[in-house]
Amino acid sequence: MADTEVDGSLKNSSHLEPSTLLTPPCNGAETENLSPESSANERPVNSASGSLSAARSQLLRMLEAAEARRSAYLLSTEEASAASDEAAREAPRTETQIQAPKQPQEFNERLTRTGRRSLSHSLSHSSGDKRSSESLEDEVSPRNKEQKNSDGSKDFCIKNIHQAAFGRREIEIAELGVPVFAWKGESEDDYFWCIDSCVNVEGWEPNLILDDGGDMTHWIYKKYPQLLKNIKGIVEESVTGVHRLHQLYKTGKLCGPAINVNESVIKQKFDNFYFCKESILDGLKRTTDVTLSGKQVLVCGYGEVGKGCCAALKGLRAIVYVTEVDPICALQACMDGFQLARLNEVIEMVDIVITCTGNINVVLREHLEHMKNGCIVCNMGHSNTEIDVTSLMTPELTWRRIRAHVDHIIWPDGKIIVLLAEGRLLNLSCSTVPVYVLSITATTQVLALIELFNAPERGYKQDIYVFPRKMDEFVAALHLQNFDAHLTELTDEQVKYIGVNKNGPFKPSYYRY
Ligand code: NAD
Repeated sequence: MADTEVDGSLKNSSHLEPSTLLTPPCNGAETENLSPESSANERPVNSASGSLSAARSQLLRMLEAAEARRSAYLLSTEEASAASDEAAREAPRTETQIQAPKQPQEFNERLTRTGRRSLSHSLSHSSGDKRSSESLEDEVSPRNKEQKNSDGSKDFCIKNIHQAAFGRREIEIAELGVPVFAWKGESEDDYFWCIDSCVNVEGWEPNLILDDGGDMTHWIYKKYPQLLKNIKGIVEESVTGVHRLHQLYKTGKLCGPAINVNESVIKQKFDNFYFCKESILDGLKRTTDVTLSGKQVLVCGYGEVGKGCCAALKGLRAIVYVTEVDPICALQACMDGFQLARLNEVIEMVDIVITCTGNINVVLREHLEHMKNGCIVCNMGHSNTEIDVTSLMTPELTWRRIRAHVDHIIWPDGKIIVLLAEGRLLNLSCSTVPVYVLSITATTQVLALIELFNAPERGYKQDIYVFPRKMDEFVAALHLQNFDAHLTELTDEQVKYIGVNKNGPFKPSYYRY
């Protein structure tokens, strides 16, 4: 069945046909062109075969380099973690009454188009930023420090350029001479200052945007629309970012083609599931040293993220309860051996609550009131909206910073709730992230960028395209090389029988993995 027949029914998204040159390397078979019917109207002819094969070998080199750096990275994160624990032991444990959170602020001084090389001194720290400080050095904002890399470039803003050898990626990038503006513990004001510093540069114009959440895209649309005139396309990773692109599309403001990576199989099945499965335990252990065996854990939401968390917790013999609103996911949870319950039915007995819904206000003050002493509360889902942390910022509750990303919220009767990462994503804030899974995601993004860059002018319309299944398969095939994996090839008879192309896509686009 031609993919376009199926994808024609996709709401608001055109189907992006795969690039003709992307063949899974494990098959070693020649690439076949896709059926002319499926390509005639929608698919731009990819004219840059040479550059794609060059890109393919570059991707392979990137994967090898990522793998080689993995052990160094793990070593360095262990060192960093030990140093952070040491700092936490030495830091005075102050008790603070938390004030109501400040609204995100515009930074006081606007940068000029040449302002990237001068540091802004307009700081606006929230109380949350102070609580996030891990060491004395961290208390000095990178925005207040002037630093040079070993080539003398000052065109970056990170925590400490001298730590380039310790495996922090953003520091390595700055040392390579690439302008990078990012550090752990940014306030919202810092965050937008960093975005602005990247784009507000004299004589610079982007031709592609790679975004995760749509903030960069939105910032350019709002502040510097002139930068969009030569954009070849946008690649977006997240649900929120794709939603924002659809809004632009509906109002006719989308500046070029966009590829929605979020709905790719690779993103959903690897980034959401394996990323969280690999990192949930690490996040819990690093912050609390909790023993999970026999603990009662409530996981809210049984989508890909929830499934990954539940699988990891089950592996350590935790007793897992799940809340769900969707009967299909709920049935999956039951069939996987988890107890489906409502939040208020189990809230008084669980030891740990983990939100994974992508929704807002899932755990409210009324739930926190009923939790037992010592209950750990954290979020693996969307941003910091799932737990109503603001409702805990009231005068009768005392917040005590125990260590980085761990707050004790103390009730007047002495009850303690352990809040991790202030309700932000636990794994992104507190754990190492599985670099192999990151590599899968990054490869997907890079392929999407290459596809847009190489597409002939007017090849793609100003529309939002779904990442094609064949490219998903290509990314997976590249990563299979890390295992001693041998992919089976279809015989000609089998090809005819199941009606697929010998070199993929191997499934119709409606197939659910
Ligand atoms: P999903 O849509 O597959 O799963 C979310 C599930 O939560 C759905 O099954 C939905 O029915 C359920 N749900 C919604 N509201 C609920 C409620 N009030 N109570 C109980 N269940 C509810 O999404 P996903 O892929 O699992 O992603 C979930 C969130 O995690 C998203 O916001 C996503 O951006 C984020 N995410 C986090 C990471 C990470 O590294 N921590 C990685 C990928 C995605």
